[in-house]
Amino acid sequence: MSEFCDVALAVPLDMAFTYRVPAEAAPVVGGRVLVPFRQQRMTGIVVELHDRKPSVTAKKIISVLDPAPVLDEKLLRLGRWIADYYLAPIGEVFRTMLPLTAEFKRSIGYRLKDAGQMTLHQAGTSGSSARSRRTPEEQAAEFRVLDYLVARSFEEDGLGVPHVSPLLRDVGTPPDGRELIREETLRSATRVTRAVLAGMVRKKWLAREDVSAPQDATRTVKIAALKTAEGKLNDNQRVLIDTLTGSGGRVPLETLQSLEVPRSTLGTLVRRGMVEIVEAPADFSVSRSKPRSAPFEFELNAAQKSALGRMCESVAARKFSGLLLHGITGSGKTAVYLAAMRGVLEGGRSAILLVPEIGLTPAVAADLHQIFGDEVAILHSALSDKERAEQWHRIKRGGARMVVGTRSAVFAPVADLALIIVDEEHDSSYKQEETPRYHARDIAVVRAKMSNAVVVLGSATPSLESYYNAKKNKYTLVELPDRVEQRPLPEVEIIDMRLEFQETGHEQVISRKLAAEIQDRIEKKEQVMVLLNRRGYSPVVLCRTCGKKLECRDCAIALTHHKREHKMVCHYCGYLAPVPKACVHCGSEYVYFLGTGSEKLEELLHGMFPQARIARLDRDTVRGHEDFERTLNALNEGELDLLVGTQMIAKGHDIHGVTLVGVVGADVALGLPDFRAAERTFQLLTQVAGRAGRGQTPGKVVLQTLFQDHYAVQYAARHDFIGFYEKELQFRSWMHYPPYSALANVLVRSDKLDDALQWSGILGKWFDSTRHEGVRVLGPAAAPIMRLKRDYRYHFVLKSPSREKLNATLRAMLAYAAQQKIPRTQVIVDVDALWLM
Ligand code: ADP
Ligand code: ZN
Ligand code: ZN
Repeated sequence: MSEFCDVALAVPLDMAFTYRVPAEAAPVVGGRVLVPFRQQRMTGIVVELHDRKPSVTAKKIISVLDPAPVLDEKLLRLGRWIADYYLAPIGEVFRTMLPLTAEFKRSIGYRLKDAGQMTLHQAGTSGSSARSRRTPEEQAAEFRVLDYLVARSFEEDGLGVPHVSPLLRDVGTPPDGRELIREETLRSATRVTRAVLAGMVRKKWLAREDVSAPQDATRTVKIAALKTAEGKLNDNQRVLIDTLTGSGGRVPLETLQSLEVPRSTLGTLVRRGMVEIVEAPADFSVSRSKPRSAPFEFELNAAQKSALGRMCESVAARKFSGLLLHGITGSGKTAVYLAAMRGVLEGGRSAILLVPEIGLTPAVAADLHQIFGDEVAILHSALSDKERAEQWHRIKRGGARMVVGTRSAVFAPVADLALIIVDEEHDSSYKQEETPRYHARDIAVVRAKMSNAVVVLGSATPSLESYYNAKKNKYTLVELPDRVEQRPLPEVEIIDMRLEFQETGHEQVISRKLAAEIQDRIEKKEQVMVLLNRRGYSPVVLCRTCGKKLECRDCAIALTHHKREHKMVCHYCGYLAPVPKACVHCGSEYVYFLGTGSEKLEELLHGMFPQARIARLDRDTVRGHEDFERTLNALNEGELDLLVGTQMIAKGHDIHGVTLVGVVGADVALGLPDFRAAERTFQLLTQVAGRAGRGQTPGKVVLQTLFQDHYAVQYAARHDFIGFYEKELQFRSWMHYPPYSALANVLVRSDKLDDALQWSGILGKWFDSTRHEGVRVLGPAAAPIMRLKRDYRYHFVLKSPSREKLNATLRAMLAYAAQQKIPRTQVIVDVDALWLM
């Protein structure tokens, strides 16, 4: 038995914490424990058991939550790798890897102290204390709390702390009869703010205790259970009773409620004691379907077969290998992925398929169930915490060996991992933009290496990094060079919008050519997609008198006008402001709404093509997967002629009726100070062009641009992937950007400008005064978005051909920052940053 254990806690500190192990407890490495930390209770992962006595007295762990590890050795190792590579606190890494938050309930309790009772007593005898500086309202609030707590202390059986597990009986009622009252109970009974309670704790009138505890996360459903069918029934009651008897006496409440019977009928039956409502664990909801034997109606073509062969060979070899599957849009990559996964399943092993955030529609899920039956676990963002925990346990038990999900599915606890596939590997949703700032594609590669598994990165537009790795033979390049059934790629026509302006004398949103092409498709009853990568109605509101823009209160970002909602919206923080009638800076009435977003484009198209059925897909019209799915289905069913949208419409959809894609604005990024702008633009243009001509009729793309000579535009128009990559690699190499350098962005932020300036100054001096051989440091400079969500932001960009040297420098910088008392949460280290904004 070890005397101590080291625990990784989800706090922004780069260390584990040592606790004493009580005699009766048996923590395991990789399992969760409940521990006291500062004034709180937290769960953490045990990373080591040992007998080394720490220099300060170690507190005792409160309880052991897992008798067996939830993170096995391999996942623990992966977590340590992530913490090291991304300079992320290990506890925060483990929290990200384990979606089990539903199994722990945070809960705070308050208890009356002697001083509090005394205060109440004195107030009762001598009136209120005259010297108090508090307002009468504050005093009244405090006395409401004291009154309530005193009254509760003498109640025979108060409600106390509900849901306290047997492990936590030690926080029950103490001998003096003063009960611990939960914060929610206390606040709803006395209508006081947290600040009032905090003040009373400071005055030692109240004790505050964290009584957070594990909770059972099993999902339950309400079930109607038949107790007796004897008795006189009217027609409605008869329907319910018959339904119940017909289903063995137990039916989910939902089912009864969906019947054509008034809601009150069931209530009557319950009151008469004929039916009882009980809670029961929700069974796993998916059908008990068996895998289909023939998943696809078509036979794979030669290129697909050869790609599949390469994957299966690699899997059979049972050692690490990486494949980059470069398949053009419409080349049938998905069929290859699914066939490879089936092979893995038949071999009794496991596979993970990662998809971009927008890729997991209910239709995709239905397909996956068809193919893999109950062997598939689908992890999408719409799952509740409980559902997520349930899926996690199912995978861990071995109940689902095929896992499909977004970013964090890369941590799925499958056994005997054989294959990880990253679909659309270039997609930026694989990067987590909060701590730990990991990239799931890169984690997939590392995890595959650690597991002797195969990783397949697939895309029509691979990232520069992956393409470069394939060139350097770190990955095997596998290509699907043609569309299925010899369908051609669409012809792309570039429209120079500067010329359009000169010739028409107007700022055009839709060029004459694009308008004519749309008209033509509508007449032919073919379908059109129009991309404008900017949502809202007008992106800028400008005052013609003082020249100022209307900006967000909390960000240095222009507010976008949203016409239907009649609001000005900040696209970075969600801040809302009224639509101005006059300039907020100078009061002038000459405020102009400039530019076009997708909302305005939709309106323009309605005006130009009144007979067309038009819909829009962007983050304003899509609130959940259902909206997205509904619109795409409508397009698929031919119920729409025209779909307008942001990059959402560019991703992966396979709609055969679309023969024309119009690009109204997709090159805004080329005007931004961002070294990935060309790559992003090329990818977006290629992907959106790839939506045209996927059916029998060949497609066409009309690409409007202000940057017609830019190589990203030119190569995309020619479908020349290799040409673009070679050119872009040359640029990256000259500029020492990835993939030729490892890069990190270090952001210093504070809601106080002085702090942000001072801290970035301190770090800047440190970078200047210490030698970092082989590491270039640029900065400090104001970040391109100088103010965001109230924070002022300064940044450094670090580049080095050596990953080790870069990380050593970052580590030393963080140590120095800690020594200088710069809060860890205010220095953000983003290794392999996708955005330098
Ligand atoms: P990608 O992801 O490469 O753009 P998809 O995987 O979406 O392409 O496939 C495009 C379309 O071609 C889909 O409708 C798919 O069902 C179909 N398809 C795939 N392989 C074949 C094949 N061998 N023969 C005929 N159709 C195929
Ligand atoms: Zn003004
Ligand atoms: Zn904002």
